[in-house]
Amino acid sequence: MKRQINFNAGPAALPREVLQQAAQSVIEYAGTGLSILELPHRSREFKEIIEESKALVKDICGIGDDYEVIWLQGGGRMQFCMVPMNFMSPGASAGYIDSGKWAADAAKYAGFYGKALVLESSKQTNYNKLPDWPSAIHPALSYVHFTTNNTIYGTQWKSVPATGVPLIADMSSDIFSRRHDYSKYSLFYAVAQKNIGAAGNTMVVIRKDMLARIKNTLPPMLDYRAHVKENSILNTSNVFGIYVSLLMLRWTKSQGIYTIERNNIEKAKLLYETLDISTRFKAYVSEPEHRSIMNVCFTAISPEAEKDLLSLCAENGITGIKGHRSVGGFRVSLYNAVTLKDVEQLVWVMKEIEAKSY
Ligand SMILES: *Cc1c(COP(=O)(O)O)cnc(C)c1O
Repeated sequence: MKRQINFNAGPAALPREVLQQAAQSVIEYAGTGLSILELPHRSREFKEIIEESKALVKDICGIGDDYEVIWLQGGGRMQFCMVPMNFMSPGASAGYIDSGKWAADAAKYAGFYGKALVLESSKQTNYNKLPDWPSAIHPALSYVHFTTNNTIYGTQWKSVPATGVPLIADMSSDIFSRRHDYSKYSLFYAVAQKNIGAAGNTMVVIRKDMLARIKNTLPPMLDYRAHVKENSILNTSNVFGIYVSLLMLRWTKSQGIYTIERNNIEKAKLLYETLDISTRFKAYVSEPEHRSIMNVCFTAISPEAEKDLLSLCAENGITGIKGHRSVGGFRVSLYNAVTLKDVEQLVWVMKEIEAKSY
């Protein structure tokens, strides 16, 4: 089977060896005589999967035993709910930095539980740049929430100042894409379908001292403490999803974050350089410091170029480049499993369009 070059934003490209191992495990898992799809979530084998995944997350992040790692269902949006449910005390406020639709949705969901204050926003320019980082953060805020990489617009925070209140990060679209100081976060989470596996699984990493701050009475499924206590098997876990994430963690570890980062920078550089000299396409984000190395968004200067890029990509086995409906144009997602060769193929197509006379 000929595989497509996959630039989808999520569910996204996975490395071939991970797909092969996952496929093999669907037939039979590790000498159990069972498919991974049949493996009980309370089995010894699944406990080993959980334990190895937790150790790998801490290892890759360079964080210690002052953090807990859990796997949850419900995706990013469930974290938009659980973060305020667990950490906004009644009558208190939390700060949100509005750098895109996901960031804004997180604030909107928090509004159901308390006061979500938007501290800074770049909505006015349809998020084609990052907002300023708030200059002063009120110490009474329960926490500050922000999105490290804005998947829909292609902006990414390169550095994050200290906040003085617990800092919570949605890292769904750039987790493990670069060297990063994870120890500044009180909690960070990432859906699996971008850099760490298949949809339906979400990684949540919480510093232990945050658990003591939970004062609200919550049903166990919505309480981080219950998931920590039950070691991610409070209810029937997403066994297969967590297993695929373990395969991605092993792959990430074996590549090494330094190599992954270098590749990601190189892929993004090639694409932005192509865009910056193009007469047919224009990058959505112009400020180099704000540009994401994970999602590159751009528009076509003419309808002909737009149509031609779509059809030439389809002819050449390139898929997933259509932009999000709120930005239009194109979005090329350069997650860890995408190779420089994949990007070179796309750039070749873009140059074909450059050479056309309309
Ligand atoms: C993809 C994405 C989400 C959405 O996750 P769902 O699982 O669809 O709820 C949230 N935040 C960011 C930054 C994303 O990229």
